[in-house]
Amino acid sequence: MLASIEPQKLEAGSGLSVWCGTCKRSATLNVAELVKRLGPDYSRLHWDLIEVIYCHECRAAGRDDRNIQFTNHAVSPEMRRR
Ligand SMILES: [Zn+2]
Repeated sequence: MLASIEPQKLEAGSGLSVWCGTCKRSATLNVAELVKRLGPDYSRLHWDLIEVIYCHECRAAGRDDRNIQFTNHAVSPEMRRR
C-alpha cells in the first residue's frame, strides 16, 4: 500500500470563504452544501474548486466570474457538529 499525503478534502466542519477580485465581494461558502453536491472526497484545492465555483454576481453581469480566491479557515468548535 502506498502511503500518501492526506489530500485536502472538503469537510463539512471547516470553513471556506471566497473573494471575488472582479467585484471585490467576499462570501462564505456553505461547505456542508458543497460536500452534499460534490461528495466528501472532492478536493478543496483552488484549481478544483474553481471548476465548480464562480461569482454569481459577475456571471449575471457578464464580467469575469472566475477571478476568485479561496480562503480556508478553521471553524470554531461550537460551530462543529458531529
Ligand atoms: Zn464578482
